[in-house]
Amino acid sequence: KLAELSSKILPPAMLGMLGGGQLGRFFVIAAHEMGYRVTVLDPDLNSPAGKIADVHLCAAYDDREALESMAQSCVAITTEFENVPAETLEFFEQTRIVRPAAAAVATAQHRVKEKNFIRDAGLPVAPFHVIESAADFNSVDAAIYPAILKVARFGYDGKGQARVSGREEAEAAFEQFGGETCVLEKMLALDLEVSVVLARDVHGHVATFPVAENSHLNGILDISIAPARCSDALREKATALAIELAQKLEYVGVLGVEFFVCGDQILVNEIAPRPHNSGHYTLDGCVTNQFEQQVRVLTGHVLGDARLHSPSVMVNILGNIWHDGEPDWAAAFAVPALKLHLYGKHEPRAGRKMGHFTVVDVNADNAYGLAMQAREA
Ligand code: ADP
Ligand code: MG
Repeated sequence: KLAELSSKILPPAMLGMLGGGQLGRFFVIAAHEMGYRVTVLDPDLNSPAGKIADVHLCAAYDDREALESMAQSCVAITTEFENVPAETLEFFEQTRIVRPAAAAVATAQHRVKEKNFIRDAGLPVAPFHVIESAADFNSVDAAIYPAILKVARFGYDGKGQARVSGREEAEAAFEQFGGETCVLEKMLALDLEVSVVLARDVHGHVATFPVAENSHLNGILDISIAPARCSDALREKATALAIELAQKLEYVGVLGVEFFVCGDQILVNEIAPRPHNSGHYTLDGCVTNQFEQQVRVLTGHVLGDARLHSPSVMVNILGNIWHDGEPDWAAAFAVPALKLHLYGKHEPRAGRKMGHFTVVDVNADNAYGLAMQAREA
C-alpha cells in the first residue's frame, strides 16, 4: 500500500473520470495537455467531457459492465459529479487509486452528513435542524425562521431549496419535496460569500488558491472575484478553516469550500468534493489551475504552484441569454483581456450553465469594471 501511495502515474496512462459535465471537460483538457488519456463515464451521449474524452463510456453510474471496463483500463479514478453513488467509488477502491475517497464523497453528497461533520469538527455552521418527518417540526425552535429548507440529496444551483417564513410554509415545502430528508437552516443576513478551493495530496501537503468573493443570482453562482475584496484577516480565516476541514476529512483531491460572512462571523456553508465553479478563474488567473491540480493529486505528483498571476473576475453564462438563438460571441472576442469558455452543451435551458468568461487585469476592481461592460455588450 505504501509503495502504491508514493508511486507516480506517468503519461500516457489512462485516467478515469466519473461525470461528463464542464468540470469533467476541463479535467480532460488539463489531462490531455499533460499527456494523459481519459475515460469518461456519463450516461449522456452529448456530455461536454464525454465528447472530448479518449473513451466515453455512455452508461449509468452503477452499470456493472461499464464500471468493470473502467477499472480495467484506468489506473486511477476521480470524479467531477458529487452525486456519483458512493458504492461506485467503493467498487473502484478495491483495485484502483480513487481520489477523493468514497467516504469523503459520501459525506459531501448528503447535507445532513455534511453539516454534522462540519459541526462535529468544531467549525462554525449556520443554525440548522434535520427534518426527516413532519413530526420533526415540533422540536424546531421558532427562532430559526425565516429559514431555508434544503433537500439533503441531489440539490444544486439552488434547486431543492425553499425559503420559508414559518412552520406552515416549511411543512408545505417539506411535503412538496416528497417528504425527503431535509435540512432546515436559519436564513442569514449575508454581508459576503467567499470560497476557498484547495488541493490536498496523499502526503497531506495542501495548496490553497486565493479566496474568491462570490455573488449569486437565484441561488446560482453569478460572479466570482479573485482575490476577494475583504480584509486580510477574513481571507486568512477562510483559508485556515478550509485547510482544517480538508485535514479532518483526511481529504485527498481538490476541494471547494463555500463560506457565509455575517458581520465578523464566518460560517462554513457547504463543501464540494471536486473542483468548484468559483475556482474557474484559476484557468486564466493562476499559475496552475484547479483541474491541473486535480490531475496532479490523482497521479501522485507534487501540487502545482497555486499563485494568482492576474487578478480575475469570472462571470457565468447561463442558458437564459439564448432567448434569440446563439449569442453574438464576437463582442466577447473583441475584449483582449477576456477569456471565453463555452462548454459545448446543446440545449440552452434557463438557469443551465453553458459557459463562463474571465477578465484579467492589474487589480480586481478594474477587471470587474471590464467584465460588467462586457456583460452589457
Ligand atoms: P447549492 O447546493 O445550490 O449551492 P447552497 O446551500 O450553497 O446550495 O445555497 C445556494 C445559495 O443560496 C448560497 O450561496 C446563498 O447565496 C443562498 N443561501 C443558502 N443558504 C442560505 C442561508 N442560510 N442564509 C442566506 N442565504 C443562503
Ligand atoms: Mg452552494
